Amino acid sequence: MNLSFKSHFSLTAVQAELEGDPRIQARALEVFGKREVMNSYLAQFVFGLIAIAGYFTGNQSLVVIGLIHCLVDQLVRRNLRIFSRTLAQGEIDRGHLRAIEHVFYGVGFAWAMASWPLAEALDGLRLLLTVVSVAGLLVMANTTCFAPRVFRASVIGFALGIAVAIPAIATIPWYVLGGATAAFLIVVQGVGAGTSRQLIHMLQMQVERDEAIEDRERTIAALESARRAATRLAETDNLTGLANRFLFMTKLDALIAGGEPFSLTLLDIDLFKNINDALGHAIGDESLKAIGAVLARSTERHCFAARLGGDEFGVIAPGGQAQERGADLMAWVKQGIDDLRATNRDIPAISITGGSAYFPGDARTRSDLLAAADMAQREAKKAKRGGHLDYSSSLTDIFRRENRIARGISQAIASRSLSLHFQPRINLMTGRVEGAEALSRFPDKAFPGHSLEEIFDVAENHGLGALLDELVLDVYREALVRLRDENSISLPISVNLSGAILKAPERLLAKLDMLIGEGLPPSLIRIEITENAIYGRGQTGVIELLDEIVELGFSLALDDFGTGSGTLRHLVNLPISEIKIDRSFVSGMLKDRNKSAIIGGLIVTGRDMGVDVVAEGVESEDEANRLRSMGAQFAQGYLWSRPLPISQFAEFVRLFGPAVRPTLSGAPRTAVARRSTFQPARRA
Ligand code: C2E
Ligand code: CA
Ligand code: CA
Repeated sequence: MNLSFKSHFSLTAVQAELEGDPRIQARALEVFGKREVMNSYLAQFVFGLIAIAGYFTGNQSLVVIGLIHCLVDQLVRRNLRIFSRTLAQGEIDRGHLRAIEHVFYGVGFAWAMASWPLAEALDGLRLLLTVVSVAGLLVMANTTCFAPRVFRASVIGFALGIAVAIPAIATIPWYVLGGATAAFLIVVQGVGAGTSRQLIHMLQMQVERDEAIEDRERTIAALESARRAATRLAETDNLTGLANRFLFMTKLDALIAGGEPFSLTLLDIDLFKNINDALGHAIGDESLKAIGAVLARSTERHCFAARLGGDEFGVIAPGGQAQERGADLMAWVKQGIDDLRATNRDIPAISITGGSAYFPGDARTRSDLLAAADMAQREAKKAKRGGHLDYSSSLTDIFRRENRIARGISQAIASRSLSLHFQPRINLMTGRVEGAEALSRFPDKAFPGHSLEEIFDVAENHGLGALLDELVLDVYREALVRLRDENSISLPISVNLSGAILKAPERLLAKLDMLIGEGLPPSLIRIEITENAIYGRGQTGVIELLDEIVELGFSLALDDFGTGSGTLRHLVNLPISEIKIDRSFVSGMLKDRNKSAIIGGLIVTGRDMGVDVVAEGVESEDEANRLRSMGAQFAQGYLWSRPLPISQFAEFVRLFGPAVRPTLSGAPRTAVARRSTFQPARRA
């Protein structure tokens, strides 16, 4: 108890405690510094007034005392400034603290010296000065008790001053004054230490609270930066570092909501698939990165660029003024790519085609705007690769038309109003029906004046392709079951699929599963796809999917052969069982020697590869005879029959079908069988 009392009022103990915790010490010194600066200004003001009073009353001692104090405060503040600066930098300049201490000793001494002549001259003033001294001592003790060393210095300095003044005070016996002063000093020191300690505890709490706050802020900052990193990841395209589709759409929405005019340009690499196929994916990536690098600089033009997926990029340019027209942007991008290629030989020659639409002139909603720009781009591609087209009113008709078709498709899907007609496939050698192709038919009024090709194209471009393909496969399944159960027809019948369902493998495989589930032999099911569906825009992993389908026992036909990029290399790479020669070759074959030469070549190639060749669109006996003489095996066309509704088709088969119902061995050979007899496929 005694001990704790002593240590509570011991300046040394307070000092030790302070120095034991650097955080508290720093905080104490900080508070001390601030307070002392204020006190010093106050003191300077008061002593300035005393000096002025001394001047007017002709009292030189007062003038001297006042001026000395002002000077002293100036010195103290200078040191405090330096001291605070070093403290703010995280270190403590003890030299300056020491200097402040010395100044306090000095003040005490100067005070004593100055009071000496005064004490002799005026008794009343002497008393007043003593009181002022004691008051100063109290103030000092109070303000400097954050820093016990300074406190101690001030106490000693002032005590010295008073002690020196004591003998001169004649009216009060020296021992009374001395004793009172000594007792007073002890009390001041004790109270000072006590206050210091309380303040230390207060500071301790403050420091802990601040640390807790800092801790929480650090945690929040860490969480925030993690969140930012996650959004960055979710919003950027890994390969190019540009924004991704998601962010692009968000930006588009924001701009549309803002109502300011802007242009939207879609860019697409021409024949990107070919770059990938011919030069490899690494080079393909290089070209994407090159475009990414150029587009990243489009911020200089205040544009916002993103990779929308595959080889497709989008750029938003604000303002929509002349200088931000899509054509200029395209020219700028092309120049940028040329510049990059000059320094980096890994980048292949890239041709890009672009289309732009303008808000609000061309369209007012996101989907319309995107569709408009997309349409402009597709039209640009049709006209000439590497070009650019602004969406225009002439495209509006196409746009409206497509939207109308898309609406019709949605309705057809919803009401499942689709049926299949069957065009018999003829064996040219026997003249008998040996199979058929299922072709979709919509109700007459659904799409007046629109071809099936157009309808399926629009479905794909409007994201309805896979749904439509699923519907086709459902109807196909029902038809095959009906032909089998009601008409005892089990012929190989092919069905057309678009590129869309190839992008949704699970959905396609699920439908194929359902076919098997009905007990329909996969060997009688042949899927017709075009080269474009396999190698077209945004198609990846298709060949793996086709392999899987063939593994399941289904077979594949390459439709419209010769109309796509049509390289024979594709034939070798794909697990197909059949090539369908496009009608455009057959229809002119009698007059055009090139066409008949191509057909002849294909027939030979097909035979060598063990792949069926089917000539499409045969309309005349002459064509049929020529094909037969060239060794063609299969054909279909109006010569024999138009695509027929299911009941008429069944009738046709009854009349012209094979004498004996085909068994599985009579079914088309599958790619798996072909592979074993033919060369190994060269596939990446
Ligand atoms: P395609 O697969 O090449 O189908 C052959 C088209 O040629 C059919 O037109 C058929 O009616 C027509 N055709 C057959 N023989 C002759 C002939 O001797 N002379 C002439 N001038 N034409 C003949 P259709 O049924 O209008 O189908 C057109 C295209 O629509 C198809 O071309 C195919 O690409 C697409 N299509 C049709 N049904 C489907 C389907 O269910 N799914 C998908 N994805 N596409 C389909
Ligand atoms: Ca077809
Ligand atoms: Ca075809």
